Amino acid sequence: MVKIGGSLLRSAGDFARAADYIAKFPEPPVVVVSAMKGITDMLLELEKTRSYLLYEEVLHRHIAVARSLGVEDRVSPLLKELEHALTLPKAEWSTDHFASFGERLSATILHAVLEKRGIPARLYIAPIETDSRFGNAEPLRLHHRDELSRGDAVAVVTGFIGRDGEGRYTTVGRGGSDYTATYIGKEIGARKVSLVTDAPGVMTADPKEVEDAEVLPLMSIQEAIEAARAGAKNFHPRTFIPVVEAGNMAVEVRSYSNPGTLITNLYSPPPYKVVTRCGQGSCVVGLAARELVKLGGVALGDYTVKLEIPPRQVHEFLVKPYIKYIK
Ligand code: ASP
Ligand code: MG
Repeated sequence: MVKIGGSLLRSAGDFARAADYIAKFPEPPVVVVSAMKGITDMLLELEKTRSYLLYEEVLHRHIAVARSLGVEDRVSPLLKELEHALTLPKAEWSTDHFASFGERLSATILHAVLEKRGIPARLYIAPIETDSRFGNAEPLRLHHRDELSRGDAVAVVTGFIGRDGEGRYTTVGRGGSDYTATYIGKEIGARKVSLVTDAPGVMTADPKEVEDAEVLPLMSIQEAIEAARAGAKNFHPRTFIPVVEAGNMAVEVRSYSNPGTLITNLYSPPPYKVVTRCGQGSCVVGLAARELVKLGGVALGDYTVKLEIPPRQVHEFLVKPYIKYIK
């Protein structure tokens, strides 16, 4: 099973690229889709402002992509529905209602592209039932589970969103499409969930802050849980929780071309894996992180310690010396 990140969905060519990638799978995968890059932010702004100009921008971005892919008729009804939403009252459910259009539109486009190519595909809009905590909903059950596990056609599924018991759209929180992907993976008994993004994998630090950050080839689920909590790669904090619950499911964080990081329930070197910025200092995540308490660090988890030293230095002295052994 695969999740295609929004950073990989900006243009018509990007949807074609995603379809190429999906078509190469030996068996039709379940494909969880994020909203096109930047769209969720625009939809949240749209809910606040109800600006018709902003609506037109969202409309144009999708129509342009859909038109050049020859699938405009599929997205038009959703865009009409979004236009109508501008007149809805503001309520506890309205933010998630607006946000839901991002994934509904992108999944609809990808599904249409696959069908147009003659690839058997089904579209699932918000098959996850959640509680009603809008903006931070918790999945309760997966509808169509048997169909989704059948593997007789590509199943294109909206990430990030669900519906509550009353059928209202909910979201699991920003960056949550990875989390919905691992949740669905657990529910259908997937062996591996590939989170495909524009980054080459989980990196030892944010490359914007630490230029010589490296891709980690391997990581344990427990380390990944704590790395997500420490803010690594902007993962939703609950991304790896379903992986633990599944027991024997692996996650791969990768780009189209780079095999990236494999996350399993095995432990492997290096001892210090990820450094994130934590306030003025750093959070270090890794098997040996607790050792750093002896150097004055504060334990934040079984594999996380906070140090009052900036990420760049911590990376230089704790991560880099070990990295050469795993390459
Ligand atoms: N589209 C959602 C967001 O921007 C979910 C995601 O991309 O993971 O937060
Ligand atoms: Mg994301």
